[in-house]
Amino acid sequence: MDQQQIDTFRAQPVSAFSHLIDGKHVPASDGGTMDIISPINGQVLTTTAKGTTADMEAAIASARAAFEDGRWAGQPPAARKKVLLKWADLIEANALELAVLGVRDNGTEIGMAIKAEPGSAAGTIRYYAEALDKIYGEIAPTSSDILGMIHKEPVGVVGAIIPWNFPMMIGAWKLGPALAMGNSVVLKPSETASLSLMRMCELALEAGLPSGVLNAVTGEGKVVGEAMGLSMDVDVIVFTGSGGTGRRLMEYAARSNMKRVYLELGGKSPNIVFADAPNLDEAAQVAAGGIFRNSGQVCVAGSRLLVEASIHDDFVAAVAKAAAQMRVGDPLSMETHIGAVNSEVQLKANLRFVKTATSEGGKIALGGTQILQETGGYYMEPTIVTGVTRDATLTQKEVFGPVLGVTPFETEAKAIALANATVYGLAGAAWTSNLGRAHRMIRGVRTGVMHINTYGGADGTVPLGGVGQSGNGSDKSLHAIEKYVSLKTAWIKL
Ligand code: ADP
Repeated sequence: MDQQQIDTFRAQPVSAFSHLIDGKHVPASDGGTMDIISPINGQVLTTTAKGTTADMEAAIASARAAFEDGRWAGQPPAARKKVLLKWADLIEANALELAVLGVRDNGTEIGMAIKAEPGSAAGTIRYYAEALDKIYGEIAPTSSDILGMIHKEPVGVVGAIIPWNFPMMIGAWKLGPALAMGNSVVLKPSETASLSLMRMCELALEAGLPSGVLNAVTGEGKVVGEAMGLSMDVDVIVFTGSGGTGRRLMEYAARSNMKRVYLELGGKSPNIVFADAPNLDEAAQVAAGGIFRNSGQVCVAGSRLLVEASIHDDFVAAVAKAAAQMRVGDPLSMETHIGAVNSEVQLKANLRFVKTATSEGGKIALGGTQILQETGGYYMEPTIVTGVTRDATLTQKEVFGPVLGVTPFETEAKAIALANATVYGLAGAAWTSNLGRAHRMIRGVRTGVMHINTYGGADGTVPLGGVGQSGNGSDKSLHAIEKYVSLKTAWIKL
């Protein structure tokens, strides 16, 4: 990747996107379109179809028909594997183009986007392609006059609802295992980051995925997302996004066919630094990266810094220094460390959180304001607020922006109590040289992922999922496959 190649893709006009239903590009049933605003400059980048309930129903019908006639589920595993591997290759072959398109749509800095988006998506699709013919049923240890077999069957039609922060990566976390296990899928990308994911779906068709097996409908969550949630013909919904939408999806399931609902709902993850951390400078650098990359729009972001009181002031100063060195700006410049906030709505919400934090007694140690207004885009300084109490808004509510709240603690027990003082449980970290303490933190902090002396960086071999109101079920690793299969017992008298 070099700047010239990036700029070549950046200069290309982006043509209008429509739905992908039954292998064809289809406009909205009422012809409606939505403007797609680039957060880089606030300008209209292109349009997508503004889906209707009828569009979602057509996509679901297409997925159902494809599932029932076995055009995908009925293919030998080796054939499905070949298509998915080809898809991964095509994503990789078009990586920079996809990454630049995604960045123009959602504002993530290109250095992160190239790895986390097409790079990770291709790796995920390949992982599940390689796994699909290594997953066996079971024979139960029954008495000798019976054969008890346990089959793993595809669930049927999977509805996948994707957020805007890492559309390709998170899209692949759902599409990879869903398709590998033989399901058909209807995908609903986010209103504010759909383009690269829609293009990635087109590549699946180029790779040979049969028509109707993967459908994608753009539009508003409250219209097409709701239609998916209320459908009697979707068997499982997999979702990453906000708690409010997650709650609605459970309600839709209860009101319709009681479909399975798996939710990944973000967090308020504690990054806990003890005075005996092996390297406090490194801890400060990683703490800054762990909250400020992608403008804090990362579900596992270490958004709460809990610091042992004896090192509090020095450590906060070191994090502030590291953060101040991170360049905020044009996400398509390779020099940029922190790109744009995804949308004006999100930027305003971030700024409101800062205001609330100071009104509740927090002190701004760095940042706090919007910058680069002259670009027309949505940029915010990395922001650090100290003196954040256990009950403060900044402890209890997810910002999903570049805002770090800092709280001191005196003892290990108090650190664990503070870490567990929210409804969330997605990620966390502890920095310590004490092996016993490291293990006590792993056991004590209620979370899906716990890091020791690092933050982030886990690959596709380990699960990612939350506890509490961070959700249920896991993405990534072989464990994710459980969401996309049903167990069927065959009980045979011999
Ligand atoms: P965020 O605040 O991070 O954008 P959302 O939960 O609003 O989180 O959005 C995540 C995804 O959920 C998007 O694809 C969005 O369109 C979709 N969505 C929003 N509202 C609904 C809804 N009522 N039903 C189904 N999907 C929805």
